[in-house]
Amino acid sequence: MDELHVDTLLLSVGADLPWLTGYEAMPLERLTMLVVPREATATLVVARLEAPRVREEPEVFSLRAWEETEDPVGIVAGLIPSSARTVAVGDQTWARFVLELQRERPALQWHRGAEITAPLRMVKDAAEIDALASAAHAVDEVAVAMRERPFAGRTEAEVSREIIERMLALGHERANFAIVAAGPNGASPHHDAGDRRIAEGDVVLCDFGGTMAGYCSDITRMYAVGEPVGEVRDTYAVLMEAQERAVQAAQVGVACAEVDRVARSVIAAAGFGDRFIHRTGHGIGVDAHEDPYLVAGNDLPLQPGHAFSVEPGIYLPNRFGLRLEDIVVATADGPERLNHAPRDLAVVG
Ligand code: ZN
Ligand code: ZN
Ligand code: ZN
Repeated sequence: MDELHVDTLLLSVGADLPWLTGYEAMPLERLTMLVVPREATATLVVARLEAPRVREEPEVFSLRAWEETEDPVGIVAGLIPSSARTVAVGDQTWARFVLELQRERPALQWHRGAEITAPLRMVKDAAEIDALASAAHAVDEVAVAMRERPFAGRTEAEVSREIIERMLALGHERANFAIVAAGPNGASPHHDAGDRRIAEGDVVLCDFGGTMAGYCSDITRMYAVGEPVGEVRDTYAVLMEAQERAVQAAQVGVACAEVDRVARSVIAAAGFGDRFIHRTGHGIGVDAHEDPYLVAGNDLPLQPGHAFSVEPGIYLPNRFGLRLEDIVVATADGPERLNHAPRDLAVVG
């Protein structure tokens, strides 16, 4: 905050608040806000009925519980020091509260809270990497188990539900998504698992993740129902090569954009340049998608402790789609994958 000349940080809904305090604001019409002045103690403003869920940390913040008849926006406005000129507000804060605060304190300059929190959250400490690794190992187990499961005759939604149940059974407190995209549906990267019945000859893209002990998992593996045709095998070989080369490129000091370029160059050389329609990866932590993003134009150099996905894809409209995704941590000794499930195209029944 000193470096950025931000006088007060305001955090509400979103991952910044639980990351700093252990308390997650419910996304309600009742305002929850941590007010962090640069040079005074922080105050957590919560509705009285939410207060029992707060684990108090007197050295970190004091608690200001508001009654149903009080005006929480006025309370927050009053906790921003009168000398403050610049405030930063968490990215997911409801617009309604930001607008009301701007009306109460019209002289303030407003910044994104992520300017302060993203650089801090981006570099994971040892305990955070352990948590990401545990979550990754749990989804690895799911990916491996699915290699022995029948796909043909079941709907995408049924397979998706099985993946969700397996994630929960293996220790995730929450499943965040379980994309199951069969045949032509795979060409839409974020396809919603639906009632398409999976059939012999389908290539099935499974991309799933959840939250375990507060940290996220995210993995993509491919399953072919019956022996895949040569074209699918050849295209998948290009993708595996692109993913491997991109992971190896993710050395400390290398720009995020360079990792994306490496993945893209392999895919383009095979003639699929215009079929890789998204960035190569995203950071991961308490949020499933966070900084740093592996995308053209992001010159940020990788640092030890950066954790991110490497997930190139090749999407052929009306035919099939392929993606391969692992979570990787940048370390002084080179990139370290947290996912270890086999990466080959699994042939299932
Ligand atoms: Zn995605
Ligand atoms: Zn994913
Ligand atoms: Zn991902």
